[in-house]
Amino acid sequence: MTLQENRRQSLAVKIGDKVIGANNPVLVQSMTNTPTEDPELTAKQVIELYQAGSEIVRITVNTKEAAGAVPLIVNKIEAAGFDIPLVGDFHYNGHLLLQQYPDCAKLLAKYRINPGNVGWGERHDENFKLMVEAAIKWEKAVRIGVNWGSLDQDLLARMMDANAASAEPKSAHEVLIEAIVESAVSSAAVAEKIGLPASQIVLSAKVSEVSDLVTVYQKLAARCPHALHLGLTEAGMGMKGIVASTAALSILLAQGIGDTIRVSLTPEPGAPRDLEVRVCQQILQSLGLRSFMPQVTACPGCGRTTSTVFQELARDIEQHLSVQRLLWQKQYPGVENLKVAVMGCIVNGPGESKHSDIGISLPGTGEEPRAPVYVDGKHVTTLSGPNLAHDFIALVNNYVEQRFGALTAK
Ligand code: SF4
Repeated sequence: MTLQENRRQSLAVKIGDKVIGANNPVLVQSMTNTPTEDPELTAKQVIELYQAGSEIVRITVNTKEAAGAVPLIVNKIEAAGFDIPLVGDFHYNGHLLLQQYPDCAKLLAKYRINPGNVGWGERHDENFKLMVEAAIKWEKAVRIGVNWGSLDQDLLARMMDANAASAEPKSAHEVLIEAIVESAVSSAAVAEKIGLPASQIVLSAKVSEVSDLVTVYQKLAARCPHALHLGLTEAGMGMKGIVASTAALSILLAQGIGDTIRVSLTPEPGAPRDLEVRVCQQILQSLGLRSFMPQVTACPGCGRTTSTVFQELARDIEQHLSVQRLLWQKQYPGVENLKVAVMGCIVNGPGESKHSDIGISLPGTGEEPRAPVYVDGKHVTTLSGPNLAHDFIALVNNYVEQRFGALTAK
């Protein structure tokens, strides 16, 4: 059974022109880090994230100015020729902003409500109700997004007290995990009681430790039919954030859990925001759940490759595919499934190359300076000399045109 076939059958939820849940593809989403009050900057970043592959984009709606800017942002996106589902991220004052800025409420595709940040005591229930009523009125999806950094403290205190009074108390950490799940599930039940259809509810319950995230989502998946938004919160920077997010999301996706994903990376100062989108795509493609771009299989190299020729060729091919990708996707449907191998020596080179659509096995140290090329598992030619990289790229281009161009012509 493939991972796609093994997917949990959650309820389908419409978000703008996209649908998540049930048998629909796992969608990639991201979040802007521009001030929403600045419609120019925010619309620009939304479009950049969308063009990088983010199928849903979340923006913070934290002030009156931000709520007032939402129609301007949508206008700018539409004027640029895009239709991008925007999610409004609300904390503390969402009940007010959704009432006072109806155009904002109408133009967003989904509202994110954090049940830990909607007010305390009686205000909690009332504010939550007002936000859910806005979603009912405007027929919008809602993500009830619990985060352990802002967990509903009243709920946690009640659960801690009940645990302390029980005959076999659990550890405080176990109760915390249960409170996170309970906050999401019980908030969804309240939303449904208010009148929000289950098919408009997405749940998330984010924590920052991989093993906790796996436990939380396994419990969540077992307790509700709702579509689930996966993400490791506060994943961190660079390699740590990428690896931790990949580890957590892969375990859950392999178990069929998750309908949309976000990787919450802290970007380097001034760096583009789209790395988190590319990581999401690579996770989904590596698991075989979706295809976004041609893939290069390259060996790591070892003592048999004392020159850097194969590293340079692997890099050049990767760069070539990444540059050509957008053009090819329009011209050659299906090219995102292309597999290219660039291998360092005879040990695994011919075998791995035969498993790819097109592959090259470069000569290792001491081998004859010739590089056999395999296409669809068959040896078709052997390259050598200073133009080897150029010649192989030409063969890849030709393969793409012959194979995927033929599909277009049919
Ligand atoms: S294919 Fe050859 S060069 Fe590459 S890692 Fe294996 S033995 Fe080393």
